[in-house]
Amino acid sequence: MNWNFNVREIDVEGIKIGGSNHVIIAGPCSVENYEQITSIAIQAKAAGANMLRGGIFKPRTNPNDFQGLGIEGLEYLIEAKKMTGLPIVTELMDTKYLQAFVDYVDIIQIGSRNMYNYSLLKAVGETKKPILLKRGFSATIREWILAAEHISKAGNENIIFCERGIRTFEDYTRNTLDLAAVPIIQKETGYPIIVDPSHGTGIRALVGIMSEAAITAGANGLLIEAHTHPELSISDKDQTIDINELKLIINRVNK
Ligand code: PEP
Ligand code: MN
Repeated sequence: MNWNFNVREIDVEGIKIGGSNHVIIAGPCSVENYEQITSIAIQAKAAGANMLRGGIFKPRTNPNDFQGLGIEGLEYLIEAKKMTGLPIVTELMDTKYLQAFVDYVDIIQIGSRNMYNYSLLKAVGETKKPILLKRGFSATIREWILAAEHISKAGNENIIFCERGIRTFEDYTRNTLDLAAVPIIQKETGYPIIVDPSHGTGIRALVGIMSEAAITAGANGLLIEAHTHPELSISDKDQTIDINELKLIINRVNK
């Protein structure tokens, strides 16, 4: 079968997503405080990460869980970018903050729970910002592609897909990471796709091996949850790796 793996390149502050390289986006699930995000940024950069990601608005299933620092967290991300030069990626949940994201964020993440939020997709589609579109955890590939079309139809072609696992009957892992989606998305859409092995497995020990598998499948990059003290992470600690492990993974996938 002839699969077309050529995807367009999305430019993020001079870093190309979709070329022969693969980008490593790393950082904590949540921005927790100034010291946490700046020290992670510095160490992730030294480990070889290309971009910094940290959530400031967290879509938590349980409303009693930490909801993120909000705009205060954006200020810390901006500081971390100033210190390291790493472009910043964070999730937008509400169009109320769209202008702040357009002004200060380098990639706007649309989370799994908002893949079906068509008014949010249209709103980010009306900007020119690179959009990281995570797969809905119950979305078929077709539905995911149609979600991306809501963005492109509104005028924004700077789309990066992110496979983050889907909900199946399997409950050993947090989600079932669908790596076949990688070449399928590239062939069907011509957009780049990165893989999130952290949410894709929910298990720290599986992040490295699934990172390698994702790159073997042709992924244009990885989104990895990493923390200087994973066990102290306010959210998603079981799937968060330390900086040493991040460095080992980056070295392995760069080979
Ligand atoms: C996240 O990226 O931290 C997150 C909440 O992921 P998802 O939207 O894939 O669940
Ligand atoms: Mn998370």
